[in-house]
Formats: sequence, C-alpha cells, structure tokens
Amino acid sequence: MTTSLHPLESIWVHPSATVGKLISLTFDDGYQDFADSAVPIMETHGFTGTVFLVSDHLGATNEWDIKLGEKFADLMSRETILKLLNQGFEFGSHTMTHVHLDQVDDGVQRLEIEKSKADLESALGVPMNVFCYPYGGLNDSAMKLVQEAGYSSAVSTRKGLNTRDTNRFCLNRIAVRNDTLLPVFVYKLWRAFRYGR
Ligand SMILES: [Zn+2]
Repeated sequence: MTTSLHPLESIWVHPSATVGKLISLTFDDGYQDFADSAVPIMETHGFTGTVFLVSDHLGATNEWDIKLGEKFADLMSRETILKLLNQGFEFGSHTMTHVHLDQVDDGVQRLEIEKSKADLESALGVPMNVFCYPYGGLNDSAMKLVQEAGYSSAVSTRKGLNTRDTNRFCLNRIAVRNDTLLPVFVYKLWRAFRYGR
C-alpha cells in the first residue's frame, strides 16, 4: 500500500499503533514530467505520492540544475499542482530556492524553511506538512528548524528503510533515478530489506 508522508506521523506520535509495511513514493523538485508521465502510471495502479516543491520556482524552470550544467526542465505550474491536489497527491516544501541548507547560516536556513512553507500554503490553500532537504544537505540546526516550523516529518537522501526508531526529521529513502534499470531497483529493495540500507 502506498501512503502520503504526513499520515505516517501517527507512527511516531502513537507508537503503539499497529501498522503494516507502508511505502511512500516521493518526488523532488516538482517537474512537469511528474504530471505528464508519472501520474497516469500511478493512477493506473492506484498509487498516491508526495512531491516536494521549490516555492520561488512554481511554473518556472530548474535554474539550480542549469547552473550546474544539467538539462533544462519545466516545473509544474500552480494550476497543475492544484489539479493534482484535487486528485489526492500530497505536496511538501523543498525550500524557496533549492539551497544547500548545510552551507548557509541559520538565519538563511530559517527563511528557506519557514517562508517556503508559508508561501506554498498561501499559493495552494493547504498545509505543507512535510519537507525535503535539497541535495540531502542537512545538519542539526536545519532539522531543528524544520521541526520548529511545524512540519511533521522530513526526508533526506540517506539510503534505506525507516522504522519507529528513525528520526522522522531525517527519513531515509531508496533512490530511483531516470537511468535506474529495473534489476538495479530490485537489488536496491533487496539490499534495503536485507541490510537496512
Ligand atoms: Zn531537489
């Protein structure tokens, strides 16, 4: 069963709650091709998912990647995001500018973490409960500020599965990229279940 991230908070808030094995599908940056390519496939299978948006760049492009020589890509517009919200997809914050939070001072961290939440909530009219650290860049201060800002959980780029003992402001993930072949994905799942990462 797939679940959006925010309902998972109850696993930590009510540790005695019984839950089975749950899978959350998460997508960083909010690319237009999520709406064009991933959503139709996910809907066929009855899957939901969570997309992390860069609040200053809705309907724009992936400037932070282009600066690093990466391919240009369109990002979803507010209208597209609102449509997907209606279809049951979850959205969270991925900062205002896709900043390396571990490379800036705590004033900038606070602004990127708090203002992205406020701006997305005002643009979309729903609470932003979950957060994703760009580049997986995080430190104790960023994790504390994410918690203080009122997010219920946050995902990192650390590899692996999550248990009740995982810090919910630094959740592990299993990375799937556009060049990840199916056998490699199966191996990653096997490795995570066998070795926890
Ligand atoms: Zn990103």
